[in-house]
Amino acid sequence: MAKEDLAAEAGEKQEPAPRLASTFAELGICKELVEACDLMGWKVPTRIQAEAIPHALQGKDLIALAQTGSGKTGAFALPILQELLENRDVQHPFFACVLSPTRELAIQIAEQFEALGAAIGLRCLVLVGGVDRMQQVLAIGKRPHIVVGTPGRLLDHLTDTKGFSLKKIKYLVLDEADKLLNVEFEKALDDILKEIPKDRRTFLFSATMTKKVNKLQRACLRNPAKVEAASKYSTVDSLKQEFYFVPADYKDCYLLHVLNERRESMIMIFVRTCESTRLLALMLRNLGLKAMSISGQMSQVYFLSLKCHTQTIRRLFHLVG
Ligand code: AMP
Repeated sequence: MAKEDLAAEAGEKQEPAPRLASTFAELGICKELVEACDLMGWKVPTRIQAEAIPHALQGKDLIALAQTGSGKTGAFALPILQELLENRDVQHPFFACVLSPTRELAIQIAEQFEALGAAIGLRCLVLVGGVDRMQQVLAIGKRPHIVVGTPGRLLDHLTDTKGFSLKKIKYLVLDEADKLLNVEFEKALDDILKEIPKDRRTFLFSATMTKKVNKLQRACLRNPAKVEAASKYSTVDSLKQEFYFVPADYKDCYLLHVLNERRESMIMIFVRTCESTRLLALMLRNLGLKAMSISGQMSQVYFLSLKCHTQTIRRLFHLVG
């Protein structure tokens, strides 16, 4: 029986859940940014925004359990932009640093910062691998307000690029912290944390609360507010999920049957290796289906040059990692 049912049965009085704000203005977001949200079609705050923004505006560190798609970028970007604006600190270069585990997520985050900060002349820089390093050095010279990066490339620039330092940042965001704590990023993350001032605000966003995230939270955050937006395995109610148990030797035939049944739809297929994406796409094209492969072995430049369904593909690519 649910907790609230038990309480009701025992005749206990239930505390009503606090009402969440239904507009950005109600959350305390300033006029310029409310207008920016409006231009992006954000009329009502998402749950994570409504839960997190008031704490962030009160000057608290944040630990938020939220997944991509929940509106989490707005939840950390709006309070950062608001402080940049309120303190008339618009000349403050390297005001905030956002760490992301993947290039695609870093690009999506920067796009949202740029859109929200367009009217206030925000300068945002993405530092990810797969992109010419010299171009990034030139962009660092323009002294952006916000730096969004993956740990490896960001650390490369901190080590090698003259004049680039994060010693004066006011905000550190660790996005998808559970993935940032993978072994591949461990050393880079440690080294970056050493370069960042202790006196800063930290927002930690994670889809799951693992032991490692908990440890990082204790090491990095000061008396954080904890907010949660979604359960780990939530899927939309309209999603139909089916499982086919098929002989391994004939799985391609079964797959083709399923694809043929849904020829009019856009379909994503996840496979285990980069090579499998290439082979499967080749096979499907030979069988007359329009198919393309996306994998971590594609160069970022090629990936970004894809014209069709760019947004959808970036999200998909982000999911595939
Ligand atoms: P995110 O979880 O930050 O990756 O955001 C997922 C998508 O939700 C992005 O396309 C955002 O533009 C969109 N989004 C964020 N906040 C809102 C909002 N309050 N209303 C409508 N869409 C939103």
